[in-house]
Amino acid sequence: MAEFTMELSDEQKEVRDWLHGFAADVIRPAAAEWDEREETPWPVIQEAAKVGIYSLDFYAQQYFDPTGLGIPMAMEELFWGDAGIALSIVGTGLAAVGVLANGTEEQIGTWIPQMYGDANDVKVAAFCSSEPDAGSDVASLRTRAVYDEAKDEWVLNGTKTWATNGGIANVHVVVAVVDPDLGSKGHASFIVPPSTPGLSQGQKFKKHGIRASHTAEVVLDDVRVPGSCLLGGKEKLDARLARAREKAKKGGERVKNAAMATFEASRPAVGAMAVGTARAAYEVALEYAQTREQFGRPIIDNQGVAFQLADMRTSIDAARLLVWRASWMAINGKPFTAAEGSMSKLFASETAKKVTAQAIQILGGNGYTREYPVERMHRDSAIYTIFEGTSEIQRLVIARTLAGMPIR
Ligand SMILES: Cc1cc2nc3c(=O)[nH]c(=O)nc-3n(C[C@H](O)[C@H](O)[C@H](O)COP(=O)(O)OP(=O)(O)OC[C@H]3O[C@@H](n4cnc5c(N)ncnc54)[C@H](O)[C@@H]3O)c2cc1C
Repeated sequence: MAEFTMELSDEQKEVRDWLHGFAADVIRPAAAEWDEREETPWPVIQEAAKVGIYSLDFYAQQYFDPTGLGIPMAMEELFWGDAGIALSIVGTGLAAVGVLANGTEEQIGTWIPQMYGDANDVKVAAFCSSEPDAGSDVASLRTRAVYDEAKDEWVLNGTKTWATNGGIANVHVVVAVVDPDLGSKGHASFIVPPSTPGLSQGQKFKKHGIRASHTAEVVLDDVRVPGSCLLGGKEKLDARLARAREKAKKGGERVKNAAMATFEASRPAVGAMAVGTARAAYEVALEYAQTREQFGRPIIDNQGVAFQLADMRTSIDAARLLVWRASWMAINGKPFTAAEGSMSKLFASETAKKVTAQAIQILGGNGYTREYPVERMHRDSAIYTIFEGTSEIQRLVIARTLAGMPIR
């Protein structure tokens, strides 16, 4: 187990500075353009691939950093650059983690490289769980996967929504119901390989923020995938379903929530994205307050402005500490007895929304225009309290964990 320390190693500092350089030199200057275009910033993803930031190797290295700080550090720096572009860069990683966590070695080796492509021909991947009637209530998914034993194929039917990179991805990871009587225990994940007939993009959403990130519906119409595309394999699924049926028969047994443990481990990464956006807006506001003069002095000389900046910085640092704690707990297998992962996501995402709004206020009229980046950062920050579980769901998870109640 890695000792917890607040001091980053020289190697970590080097990675952080390298990422910061990319965020400052490549991402931030492109942010306004891709926000207006509302399109996937393929040239920026390609640049990230060329320098090695858009790759499984880089993602895996950060993911397995024994201190747990690799991923939060990377997310904070990239999202400091710009949230929409950064999500386009890390979105594939979210799908890849689904395969890393549940796939066999063969599936990992076959599909993850196809998710990224290479620097000359970059590809993206999508993780498709949410549906029109199943957002927060993940257990009520309707997309069905039925096994065709004669052909050893799975047949998928349903509509997914809000999928980041949905429809433009080379590889889609789709969560579907294999046994409707078992609620979320009856779900399984499938790879849908490139160019599989029956998978199409539905509506592409025009969004409030993170507009450089593509979000769309994914329609699955008799999509047939080979048996080998079931993540983890059929034997493992059958054993898991048999255990769940046995428990359901006994009735009343408290759900041991493996899925919740996974969420606790992944939510700090979203918290780190929020810290990145909040820090970016705070830095713009601080510099503006030091240089903008009214009544013959910099506006930071007014306590009303300076105290806001003090509160903003305090909240950002507190959010980062919660994120780092939860990330350290996740990598060291510590039990999340107070839903510390959800706590970090809740606090960091609410902080980003608040801090970016304060930044607009400090910039006055300029803050309200697209001449300055804080307006975009505020629009972007609204996503953090929605995806990967809304703030209400984080509170629900924390409260139920504290009360020792089951979370479905
Ligand atoms: C830009 C974007 C990208 C996304 N990317 C992906 C992706 O790549 N893959 C994917 O699968 N999904 C993705 N999502 C979906 C996202 O995870 C869902 O939007 C989110 O889980 C909320 O679901 P919902 O939108 O259906 O809201 P709902 O669940 O309908 O919630 C509506 C409101 O009701 C509240 N609410 C619901 N239940 C309760 C409760 N029990 N107690 C208190 N309040 C409650 C919610 O907090 C919210 O305020 C994305 C969403 C967006 C907007």
